[in-house]
Amino acid sequence: MEDNLCFLNPFSDYKGALHSSRGTAAIVSTVTATVDIILKQVPLDPGDYDGGLYDGPAGVAYMLFHVAECALFSEQRDAYLETAKRIIDASVRHVDADRDVNTRAAFLLGGAGIYAVAAMIYKAMGLAEFVKPLAKFCNLWEVCAPINFLECGSDELFAGRTGYLCAALVLKQKLGFEILRKEQIKAICHAIIDSGKQYAKKKRKPFPLMYSYYGTEYLGAAHGLSAVLQMLLSHHEVLSRPERDLVWQSVDFLMTQEQNCNWPAELGAIIQRENQLVHWCHGAPGVAYLFAKAYLVNNKPQYLDTCIRSGELVWQKGLLKKGPGICHGVAGSAYVFLMLYRLTGNSKYIYRAQRFAEFLFSKEFKAGSCSVTRSYSLFEGLSGTVCFLVDLLQPDQSEFPLFSIFV
Ligand SMILES: [Zn+2]
Repeated sequence: MEDNLCFLNPFSDYKGALHSSRGTAAIVSTVTATVDIILKQVPLDPGDYDGGLYDGPAGVAYMLFHVAECALFSEQRDAYLETAKRIIDASVRHVDADRDVNTRAAFLLGGAGIYAVAAMIYKAMGLAEFVKPLAKFCNLWEVCAPINFLECGSDELFAGRTGYLCAALVLKQKLGFEILRKEQIKAICHAIIDSGKQYAKKKRKPFPLMYSYYGTEYLGAAHGLSAVLQMLLSHHEVLSRPERDLVWQSVDFLMTQEQNCNWPAELGAIIQRENQLVHWCHGAPGVAYLFAKAYLVNNKPQYLDTCIRSGELVWQKGLLKKGPGICHGVAGSAYVFLMLYRLTGNSKYIYRAQRFAEFLFSKEFKAGSCSVTRSYSLFEGLSGTVCFLVDLLQPDQSEFPLFSIFV
């Protein structure tokens, strides 16, 4: 029976040899052509600058930075970085003027992410002023450290303090040094754990840590438990022994919530096979990064097995009809294969990622997928697709944008 949310996968699976149909040169020219399309759509000057990294112009600046970092685009590097700077400068001015300090502390939806990306772009251009946005980023620590700083839920990835930790992690990876002091990271982790303990106790959960966002107990990467636990594992060295135990118990609890290689968007929901969400934001393609991180931290095979099962579901149901993006689109699915390639070294996953890339440019995809409101967006539109294509050219360094597990 056909699925409403995805195309049937028309490809035969890996048989031990990679296709050579779309070689490096073809992908490189697809990337530069797609960047040109994006730059025709994104506002380059102040005006419509809402949206943060998720779907605002700032996400395009990150994409340009990512392409510029790849040696295959050395010819375009300077021009891409110049444009990235122009966009991120306008984004910084927009967020500086925002009176809502809580919005400023948001990672994918607000200022924290914009300041972080501004620092990365300035640094890549050799500009000493990269310390300015970095200082603004560090100052946001005070905003998101208090346990209930957001009424809607203070802990998730997009606007909560998990996002702030995630941004700090990406900055450390890209700049090569720790941005926050150890005590600051510790305090944020404590707040996340205390908040989760309090919530789980109040709601009488039979497991130690839980969170909600606007009243919903999400499990996935976007607003849910998995990204929160992933960031705690990414900073496990600052946690006390009892805190670490709580985190691992929660990871294992989340593993028990699997339903046929997938996870429901919210706690306790029953997945309907034909209408299930197989998205980075909600479902296995996002939750898989938590188990990948768990495997990288303690090498237990059950975590790797869980990732591999997620990858099988994504191969069957990941050709999504909701566009080309990384949040709930085909590129987001394909990133799971690149992650599995890095974990296992198995070329099958490169093959699968290549097939999904091919599908993105097929007639069937064009005819049958929904259009996206902001087609330049990093998470829903073509900028995330460009990041994926660049990573397909350098699979050993590939990472889901702004969501590092190999740090
Ligand atoms: Zn999504």
